Amino acid sequence: ATRIVVKIGTSTLIHPNGKLNLIAIDQLCYTLSGLVNEGKQVVLVSSGAIGAGLGQLGMTQRPAAIPEQQAIAAIGQTELMTVYQQRFSMYGQKIGQILLTHDVVDFPTSRENVLNTFESLLKAGVIPIVNENDTVAVDELDHHTRFGDNDQLSALVATAIKADLLVMLSDIEGFYDKNPRKFTDATLIKQVKRIDEQLFQHAGGSGTRLGTGGMTTKLKAAQMMLQAGSSMILASGKNPSIIFKLIAGEEVGTLFQ
Ligand code: ADP
Repeated sequence: ATRIVVKIGTSTLIHPNGKLNLIAIDQLCYTLSGLVNEGKQVVLVSSGAIGAGLGQLGMTQRPAAIPEQQAIAAIGQTELMTVYQQRFSMYGQKIGQILLTHDVVDFPTSRENVLNTFESLLKAGVIPIVNENDTVAVDELDHHTRFGDNDQLSALVATAIKADLLVMLSDIEGFYDKNPRKFTDATLIKQVKRIDEQLFQHAGGSGTRLGTGGMTTKLKAAQMMLQAGSSMILASGKNPSIIFKLIAGEEVGTLFQ
């Protein structure tokens, strides 16, 4: 079966006012359920826990202290999963939650256990919903215990389960030759075949308050996919049903292949 990993970013899931974008989430759930019904195997890597937690608490900004961020992520993660559970069940779709720590990279046994879990879920037609386990991952600066961002985490998952495609949904149409939020003459690059250091110079940081990785981490994810002989499509998550189009081979966003 075709395996697809879909990563959706905070800026797509959360409105600028901090509320969950229920319309986008609903469309995402509708679309992914449709793919499973077509016989595809689907994994969702979802950001948005901290954003959702901030919204729950009526806060607008991430606190600086890590323990507070982790507490907010703990609150937001259940909020997010509750909404996913609700929406997916409307489409008759079962889900399972997988919270990962860097253990799956460091310890072969942990890795194998997680891979077995993925296999069982996918075989049963369940959509695993993946996020970093924010409450266990300790220090944002300590790269040995954190993945750091879901862009690279999604590529890690996609390569580990040998996915055919990583679909990255963001708040932007694709990868541009320069940051389109800063330069009005930026143009969309339709296909990238090779990623070198020079390409990273075209990648800027996040454009929004809650967004994290920006384009740099998305290019790194694409690099991992290309190295594994697989591909990635970066497209706008404004209307997640765009996934139907790009899987049908329509030209949308940026194809890394
Ligand atoms: P997400 O929450 O979806 O992960 P991010 O805010 O982390 O989104 O990253 C997407 C943002 O990256 C865009 O909205 C844009 O502001 C910024 N960006 C920087 N450089 C580029 C580029 N070359 N092409 C497209 N977007 C870019």
